[in-house]
Amino acid sequence: MLAEKLLLHILIILAPMFLYSVFLENRRLGKSRIMTGLLHGAAAFLCMCFPFVSYGFHWDLRYVPLVISFLYGGPVAGGIVYVIIIAMRIAIGGPVLLYGIAIVSACAFVPLLFSGRFYRYMPKQRVMISIMTAVWSAFTAFCTVTVYVFVVNADRINAKPMYDLVWIGIIQIMGMTVSALMYERIIERKAMRKEMERAEKMNTLGELAASIAHEVRNPLTVVKGFLQLMQQEQNYQYVPLILTEVERAEKIISDYLNFAKPQFRKIESFYLSNVISDVIMLLEPLAANKYIQLKSEIHVNPLLETDSDQLKQALINIIKNAIEATSQGGTVAIRTDAGKGEAQIIIADTGKGMTKEQLARIGTLFYTTKEKGTGLGTMVSLRIIEAMNGKLSYTSEPSVGTEAVICLPVKEEKRMRRAQ
Ligand code: ADP
Ligand code: MG
Repeated sequence: MLAEKLLLHILIILAPMFLYSVFLENRRLGKSRIMTGLLHGAAAFLCMCFPFVSYGFHWDLRYVPLVISFLYGGPVAGGIVYVIIIAMRIAIGGPVLLYGIAIVSACAFVPLLFSGRFYRYMPKQRVMISIMTAVWSAFTAFCTVTVYVFVVNADRINAKPMYDLVWIGIIQIMGMTVSALMYERIIERKAMRKEMERAEKMNTLGELAASIAHEVRNPLTVVKGFLQLMQQEQNYQYVPLILTEVERAEKIISDYLNFAKPQFRKIESFYLSNVISDVIMLLEPLAANKYIQLKSEIHVNPLLETDSDQLKQALINIIKNAIEATSQGGTVAIRTDAGKGEAQIIIADTGKGMTKEQLARIGTLFYTTKEKGTGLGTMVSLRIIEAMNGKLSYTSEPSVGTEAVICLPVKEEKRMRRAQ
């Protein structure tokens, strides 16, 4: 009976991490402390619905979600779980209610002390702290019951259920170890993804630099020619032309430097056309080098609210692939369209296209058909777009071309204001 219940509890306490990995890891909601608190709170609640009762005490693994949410989710997440447990404990009631509340509070206190600076420790230390906190919770619970059984309730001594409590304590510590290790895995995966984004960006920067240097040389040559003419003819009619060429070179360089800047994630409102024209300005030299026409048709220009630098990186990766797949004389067209509550960005090329098998593999890690490819670009774009609650899909036909469609939610400013 006890073993079955404990197995069920182990499943319940590990469920938040599974749910997080599958549904929330790449989404903005996944970063919410409240969401972390609610997930672990639900786990604690479910644990308390199937308790193991001895001496009127309800035993379960509720302390694992409590401690883990304080440590890995911070004081807000831990506080939510604490409130849920206390509310549920009061609802259960019974003669040992006060002891129950005292144990929960004592168990919450130690991880609360660590919660502010937990992420300053190394991963191994974090796991150790989690285990030590679990030992502390088990010890507190055990001591409280011992006091109750041997001091308060001394006339009805029966030590047998105490052994069960030792088992529960051991399982609790094991559950905590597994939970902490799972959290560490999630943290490691996140760091790896960030590193991949960075690696792909560095790669793109290197490739763009060559084409941009080439492209900037053209206006400079024109400027030099005009200046020589001016020197010979002593007139100023070429000045506006010189200025336009210099401005163009300046814009290309400043866009490149902006893209090269480290990105600080910031959410802001912006019009889609601004991002698209920046991206086109950056990639035009690359297309021009291959004699490919880069066209844009902005039919609709919705207001978006997200990280525009991230969106730029996603678009650059996809459009760069389109340019690379297209041969001399081809076109890459970027269109925008509107769906219900969403904006669409369609990137269509007249390149070599993809077979069904290739299409199925696109966006998977390290998949590349290029000699110097990294196989990261599409995956990074996909990840960024999913984090923005958007979608990226591809349709393609070999030797005809490829179409990438990005759907992004638009900011609904007017409707929200009317609803207030
Ligand atoms: P990389 O560009 O380094 O190869 P990506 O993840 O950006 O890595 O792209 C993976 C693969 O997907 C490419 O190697 C290419 O075979 C294919 N691909 C992506 N976009 C297109 C496209 N527009 N047309 C044809 N093939 C494409
Ligand atoms: Mg690529």
